[in-house]
This record gives sequence, C-alpha cells and structure tokens, in this order.
Amino acid sequence: MKLTATLLIALAAAGSMAAGGLKGKVIYVNPGHGGWTANDRPIATINHEVMDTLGFFETKTNLWKGQELRARLEKAGARVVMSRTRNGYVTAGQKNATALDRPETWSDENGAQQITTLQTIAMNVDSINPDYFISIHSNATGGDDGKLCNYLTLVYRGETGNDYAKGSIERAQQAYPIVWDNPLTVWTSSSPENPFITGDLTWMGATPPGDANALGYKGYLGVLKHRVPSFLAEGSFHSYQPERQRLLNRDYCRYEALRYYRAINAWFGGKPDKAGHIVGDVRSASEKFEHQLYHGVKGSDDELRPVNGAMVYLNDSRGVRVRAYRTDGEYNGFFSFFDLKPGNYTITVEKQGYAPVQMGVQVKADKVSCVKPRL
Ligand SMILES: [Zn+2]
Repeated sequence: MKLTATLLIALAAAGSMAAGGLKGKVIYVNPGHGGWTANDRPIATINHEVMDTLGFFETKTNLWKGQELRARLEKAGARVVMSRTRNGYVTAGQKNATALDRPETWSDENGAQQITTLQTIAMNVDSINPDYFISIHSNATGGDDGKLCNYLTLVYRGETGNDYAKGSIERAQQAYPIVWDNPLTVWTSSSPENPFITGDLTWMGATPPGDANALGYKGYLGVLKHRVPSFLAEGSFHSYQPERQRLLNRDYCRYEALRYYRAINAWFGGKPDKAGHIVGDVRSASEKFEHQLYHGVKGSDDELRPVNGAMVYLNDSRGVRVRAYRTDGEYNGFFSFFDLKPGNYTITVEKQGYAPVQMGVQVKADKVSCVKPRL
C-alpha cells in the first residue's frame, strides 16, 4: 500500500510537470515609463516631431510590447499582472505632465491599475510575489542621438556576478540568446556568446550595496527593489535611428514581445508552440538611404532604402492568398505574419516603381522565419 501511495504521488508530480509550463504561473509585466511627458523618452523621427504621440515615445513602445507579452502569456494559461495597461499616467505632481496625462491611481475606470511610481511598483511586486517579473524598456546613448550603437542589455539588481535576488542572473542568462535572436536589427556588439548582462549597481557605477527602499531592498533601479528574481530588459537602442524607425511599427514591438514570451515559456518548461511566424523587411536592392534622422551601420541592411507602402502577400502551398501586409510609412520596411500553420508559403512583394519579387518561405512550428525581399 505504501509503495502504491508513493507511486501515485510520483505519477501526480510527473503529470503536473508535463501539464506545467505557464499554466497557473503568475507573471508580472512592467512596461517602463507611463506618461507623455518629456521624461517618457520622446525623440523626433523622420515623420514626427519630438513630443508627437504618433512618433517615438518609449512609454508607448514599451506598452505595445507589454500588451503583446500579456496576450501570449495568458493564452498559455498564465495569470498576468501589469503595472499599467494605458499610456498617459504619471506620478502625482509630475512637473512635466501634459494635458494628456493623469496622475496614477490604483485603478482606471475599468478597474485596471495604472502604477508608474517605481517604489510603488516594487512594493506591489513584493506583495504579489509573482513567479516571474520583467521590466520592458529600450536603451539610448546619453546625449548623442544617432550613434551607431545597438545591443541587448539585461539588468538585474545587484553587482555584476552577485544578484541580490538570487536566481536573477540565471533568468537573464536563459533569456538573453532568445531575446537577442532578431535578424532584422543590426546589433553592433554583444552576442549570445558574449551577452551584456549586468548588475544595476555596476551598470550605473554606483557603490554597492546601493540605497535601500522602504522595504529594505538595496540596489540601484527602483523597479527592481523587491524579493522576486528578475531583470529589466533594454531590448535595443532607440537612439540607433534605424531601430527607432522600426520601433514605430507596433508589429515590430510585438515581435520583441514574442521573444520575451518564448524565453519565459522555455524558463517554465512550457510546450513549444504549434504555430510559426514570418518576419521580414522590404528594402531596395540598390538604393541607399540617409536622412538627418537616419544613419545606418555601414555595410549593413540598414543602409538600404526601406520601402514604405509596399504590399506583401502571403500565399499558402496551394497558392491561396492567406494574408497581406502593407509596410508602414515610417522607413522600416517591416512586415510580419504571426501565428501561421507550419508549411511552405510564398510571399510576393509589390510596389509601384519596382519589379515584383517572389520568395518561398518555410514556416516551422515554434520558429520565426526571417525573409528579406530586396526590390
Ligand atoms: Zn526606459
């Protein structure tokens, strides 16, 4: 009898592992910033002046990434808590607040909390004690817009090599190669073999062990001062101008979120996705592109003119058109077809003034296929 009971327990444990993955896990997603103020990282782009909410605002792109991440996590059975679900919320008394901003409250009219104060977020995270915490941002080189500098940074609380919330380094190391895997950007340094994973105190040049918050957690970045092992992702550099133009495309931000999702799903041993995805960019094969707000890395794809308003058609193996995508007007050429059945597809790209291009692409389960049609 005793043996049977032990066996039953073992079987139950095996069963829960197999069914495991993200089901029932609590994931806290913090899209960085929150308002439309000068502190929410607005920068001019080719089509938009600085502070134009249709242009680049890190507050907006972080939220796009966070919303997509939430959708994918919830679909996989996770419970997701977000520090905010809207843009335009700021700390009460924010001196840079605009007419579009409201002070943060614990909930908006739909009952969704909108928190932007870093210490309040940290206290919220600490009290919920989720299974995973991620803070989503993009990076910038200080005061030197347009620098040819673009890499993935994952930051945890503590000193490099000494995470104050144990387990943070492991999570960052597991996530780095998955999040880094984006053939559409031009990384200027770092790689899965040489990842830029750093403690916040080391990164900011502060003296260990750093200042303590109200809960007594020491470190540098306010949003990480809680007990949950976690990291803050600077997904890429929005000061690298071609990358900023890409970030204006919501689907490009969804692509980054997909990579966070894949990392978190893999961390919890989740099943691979049955669907696959296509991402790509349409560029001229021969024309270069340069603008006072667009300087690409020499010799890279970013030097080639991105084609605005190109039609990208997706046909399945029987020749049936299943999707279409029009590249936006923001000089990135980006297109995507998410959540496709695995199989062989053909894409056809059309744009007035260019000869159409056709390419075959194979979609595999749980993989992202990248295609780069050049007109
Ligand atoms: Zn940021």
